[in-house]
Formats: sequence, structure tokens, C-alpha cells
Amino acid sequence: TINTGDLIVVDGLRGAVLVNPSPLLLDDARARAARHLAFARGLLSARDQPCVTACGVPISLKANVELPAEAILALDHGAEGIGLYRTEFLYIDRATQPTEDEQYELYRAVLEAVAPRPVVLRTFDLGGDKFASSFRLPAEMNPALGLRAVRLALSQPEVFKTQLRAMVRASVHGNLRIMIPMVASLRELREARRLLAEATAEVAARGQAYEAEIPLGVMIEVPSAAVLADLFAREAAFFSLGTNDLIQYALAVDRTNRSLAPLASPFHPAIVRLIAQVARAGAERRIPVSVCGAMASDPLAAALLVGLGLRELSMEAAAIPEIKEALRRITLKECEDAAAAALEADGADGIEEVLAKSFAPRLYDLLAADVEGAGSLL
Ligand code: PEP
Ligand code: MG
Repeated sequence: TINTGDLIVVDGLRGAVLVNPSPLLLDDARARAARHLAFARGLLSARDQPCVTACGVPISLKANVELPAEAILALDHGAEGIGLYRTEFLYIDRATQPTEDEQYELYRAVLEAVAPRPVVLRTFDLGGDKFASSFRLPAEMNPALGLRAVRLALSQPEVFKTQLRAMVRASVHGNLRIMIPMVASLRELREARRLLAEATAEVAARGQAYEAEIPLGVMIEVPSAAVLADLFAREAAFFSLGTNDLIQYALAVDRTNRSLAPLASPFHPAIVRLIAQVARAGAERRIPVSVCGAMASDPLAAALLVGLGLRELSMEAAAIPEIKEALRRITLKECEDAAAAALEADGADGIEEVLAKSFAPRLYDLLAADVEGAGSLL
């Protein structure tokens, strides 16, 4: 329905696209864009303030990144590192797979740009909703439950090791951690670790430089991994909760189905309990646990996550100033009280109500998707 030369308004706050809007709608869109820009600039001016709760507890905010250029954007928004680097973009939209050198150069650039802050490189999370033509994967009835992510990597060990060697070589250029997506069983983590050891030995045999101890962590985004978090915590260097997929798989709601979106709530009590369980398992073994799903970029959800014990959140760079501002206004005790009440609730509505009652009056300007009247920060 869109033709060359049409005027388009992309409204990211309302999730709307207007094609050839009337002059009135266009004026309105321009005015809202200007207000939003002013609001975002106001938040961004606190970029160099530490992210601490009102009572002084530090919360580390990191960025989710897909393209190398976004690493700089992340730092500009006050990110303390890259909590999730989605490497699959390298494989998408091309007929051949990226070479080891090509990958090495990219990872190196990101690590150098962000050093000494940490960068979590996630090994390719392809398949499912992340289509990669260069793998020539057979069609599946249920791609979300099919040959994807770590399963695909383990089924093509040479392709996987090419990526791992590139990462191992890049490790000397910054503070690297490697993370495996969609892990469902300990066997997968062990296999990935074995292939990482092989890749490291291959790099060493060539006489190339590498870091010997690269932390290897797992995404907790398949319910079985959340349930087994105590076992995973014995073997993984860190956890990162991928709430986008955890919600999809725990609630059996397709994350790409718009009409089901209201069912895919991060406030579903099953999700809140799974997250609490994972946070506890990480704390018991003293391994870092972060959240890198979209849940972390919602101010009320961020408060809940802190109350559940999380001290590290990773999100799209643009959300960092807003979440920092939200957390600076509230105390850990308030977050913990809200989390305790949320763990008793029997429905998403009840949990949202608890959070709204506890925090909305102080965060109203940050919660308004449309920033009408959000003048307090300017
Ligand atoms: C997630 O599943 O929450 C996640 C962060 O990974 P992705 O959105 O890339 O699947
Ligand atoms: Mg995921």
C-alpha cells in the first residue's frame, strides 16, 4: 500500500505507521516527535550519573546490540557494557556464511570500542523467527520448536567452531564473555564448552593470541533451563534471562503473533516465579544473573526485577536513560516488598496492580508511552 514518494510517519511510541497523513495529523506527529526528543534529551543529560536506587544500591544497565555501530550509541546512552550482542545479523540476508576473519574483525571492533567494559557475544541464534538462508534449513512445521540456536550450532560443529574461533581471537581486544542461546539441557552447555575448547586449541595451534579463560554463560529462555537453574549454575559462568522467549515457551504464546500479544505478559505469575527461581539459583552459586529480554526496558518490570534480586539489566540503548531515572527514584525495600506481593499474586492483573500502586505515582512521566504532560524532567 506504500508507493515511492509517499510520505510516511513511523510512530514508534504508539506502534503505528501513517501513510500520507492529513496536514493535521502530520502537524500533530511533528509536534509529538519534538516533545519526545526534548524529553529524551532531558533524560540523556543524566547519562554520567550512576545507576543506583534511591537508597544507593547499584544496578548495572547494559545494552542489547545487533549492529557494530550500535555499540557506540550504547555508550552514548550510558551503558556499562554490552549485555547482549546478537551475532546472528551476520548470517542473515546473505547467500554465504561469514568467514572467520570477517567475524573476528567485527567482534574485535566492538570489544575495542567498549573496553574495558564487558561485551557478551551471543553465539548465533538462528532458526525460528530468525531466518538464515545461508544454512539452507529444511522447512519445519514448528520452527520455533525446531532446529535452531544451539541445536543448529551443535548440528553444524564446523560452522559453530568458525564463529567460536573468531570470538576466541577477538578476546584479547577487550572484556569478552560468550553466551549460548536457547539452551534446554546441560548436555548442550557441555557440548558447547567442548567445542569452545577445541576452537581455542585450534587458535593456539596457529600461534594466534587469545584469552585462556573466557567466561561461558547461558541464556535462560527455555523453561527447562529455568527449572534446572540450580544445576546450570554449577557449570555456567553467568545467566542471562531471555524473557522474550521464556514468555513464549512458558506460556505457549507465539511471540510473533500480534493478536496474542496481550497474553504474552511478563507479569504472568508463572514468569515472575521462574525469574525468582533463576535469580535465587544464581545468588546461591554467586554467578551473575542478568535480564536481556524486553521486560527489562519497562520501568515497572525493572522495579520488579530488582525486587526479585536482579542487579543487572540489559536493554535497547534508547531505554537506558529512562530505566536509570526510574530506578534512581525508588528504594530496594520498595522493590522487594512489591516483588514479595507479586510472588503471592494469582494473575498478571494482580501483579500489575501491585506495581502500579507502588510505583506509578512516582514514575507516571516515564510510564506515559505518549509523553503529553511529561514535563517534570525538562
Ligand atoms: C529473549 O529471548 O528474550 C532474547 C533476549 O533474545 P531474542 O529476543 O534475540 O530471542
Ligand atoms: Mg531469545
